[in-house]
Amino acid sequence: MSEDNCIFCRILAGEIPSTKVYEDRLVYAFRDANPQAPTHVLLVPKEHIESLNDAAQGDEALLGHMLRLAPKIANQEGLADSGFRTVINTGGDAGQTVWHLHVHVLGGRPMTWPPG
Ligand code: 5GP
Ligand code: ZN
Repeated sequence: MSEDNCIFCRILAGEIPSTKVYEDRLVYAFRDANPQAPTHVLLVPKEHIESLNDAAQGDEALLGHMLRLAPKIANQEGLADSGFRTVINTGGDAGQTVWHLHVHVLGGRPMTWPPG
């Protein structure tokens, strides 16, 4: 899917409303519209990257930044003691539905393993 009709690019452009949790020069985090846990935040790069399959060597600093932000967002959401889960779905079998790379940050309830 191209940048033009990407839902998350439209959220980043302010064309679709979202509830901001965190923002900096490189990334934006907002609440999932269909939360799967009491806390369900999506962390996305401001640059349109379709999935982990499309992340290049030049994106390594961005990916590292996003992973380091996950616990900061979790702590901001009060999940420091209880724990949280980070998920990046890549491709159809993993259940990726929005083709703009995103890290799910989920918490606020016990979770099972393996995931469904
Ligand atoms: P995926 O299935 O690709 O890993 O995750 C996509 C996520 O984006 C889903 O959890 C879905 O609920 C969320 N989502 C889809 N459209 C919107 C939207 O317009 N606004 C928000 N806040 N979340 C969305
Ligand atoms: Zn996009």
